[in-house]
Amino acid sequence: MRDFSYLRAASVDAAREAAALPGAMLLAGGTTLIDLAKCGVAEPDTLVDITYLEGLDRIDVNERGATIGALAKMRHVADHADIKSRFPAVSEALWQAASAQIRNMATMGGNLMQRTRCPYFRDPSNFPACNKREPGSGCSAIGGVTKGHAVLGTGEACIAMYPGDLAVALVAFDAVVHLGERRVLVDDFFLLPGTTPDREHAIEPGEMITAIEIPGSAAARRSTYLKVRDRQSYEFAAASAAVGIEFEADGRTIRDLRVALGGVATKPWRARAVEAALKGKVLELDAVRAASLLAVEGAVDHGANHYKIELAPRVAARAILKLGETA
Ligand code: FAD
Ligand code: SF4
Repeated sequence: MRDFSYLRAASVDAAREAAALPGAMLLAGGTTLIDLAKCGVAEPDTLVDITYLEGLDRIDVNERGATIGALAKMRHVADHADIKSRFPAVSEALWQAASAQIRNMATMGGNLMQRTRCPYFRDPSNFPACNKREPGSGCSAIGGVTKGHAVLGTGEACIAMYPGDLAVALVAFDAVVHLGERRVLVDDFFLLPGTTPDREHAIEPGEMITAIEIPGSAAARRSTYLKVRDRQSYEFAAASAAVGIEFEADGRTIRDLRVALGGVATKPWRARAVEAALKGKVLELDAVRAASLLAVEGAVDHGANHYKIELAPRVAARAILKLGETA
């Protein structure tokens, strides 16, 4: 790990100003950044510590929705009584992420900014070719071991999977990222790799996440997050689904449906085709199974990750049916 300077920011403005300088990076819980610095992927000259900024750890929930400060810890949000009752999918996504120790340290803003777990990306000394790390250098994963790579949203430049859980639930409920005064839908905040996989987020130098806003809705209230993984804890998703549902008064016909997938795409993936196919329909097994297949329309595998194309629709269908059982 290289030497770097450390600066403790005294205000949001000071943090933004310092972070705009070349070689500067914001430091929150440090659970991603320190790892990346140790393996030589992040090479900050200055770490701008934002953990002492006051007021950015607030969690406000009311009828209209929730506003969660960027420095709120994952554990506090997961445990918050109003988040659990009004946004169960968000609480469940956080509870199934990482480990208790990491959730105690890690922040909501840092979670949105986490980088891919592609093993080639995180091993620069053995795999110099990585377009995400070094634009134009190639992609070591294509033709390599692809079990954990994406099948949706990929391109020739990069097939890295977006690994987070929280953002999958946020995308389902049209959450908005606050970058100071600027507001960006979470769906637009995450960028497809295209020809610039090195750019993952719609954040400019000198900007920082200050809060996340989640609009309240009946679908968010009746929601869940289902994560399938190689082991039941401390593991990233093989496939996951955040689902929210609102029924008509008959308790069977779907008025509103939200479906987003994790573990299978290059960004948190909203499955709008599944939503459109089921809205206005009565919830029943065959219709849900058929509609869930639309989640992976256009998917492209690279051999070892083919299983995700079969797994993702099943996870989505299971999550939808689970919510139906509670109607
Ligand atoms: P930091 O490490 O401090 O920062 C991460 C990045 O965000 C840095 O680039 C930093 O500059 C930037 N940043 C931080 N705050 C801001 C801000 N306010 N505005 C702009 N930029 C900012 N996550 C999951 O979702 N699911 C999992 O299953 C999971 N498993 C994990 C397992 C392990 C072993 C580890 C190490 C991590 C895992 N994670 C998982 C990721 C974990 O949730 C993130 O490391 C954590 O949320 C990052 O938050 P942090 O506050 O520690 O960020
Ligand atoms: Fe790099 Fe993306 Fe290829 Fe992984 S998949 S080696 S992150 S370019």
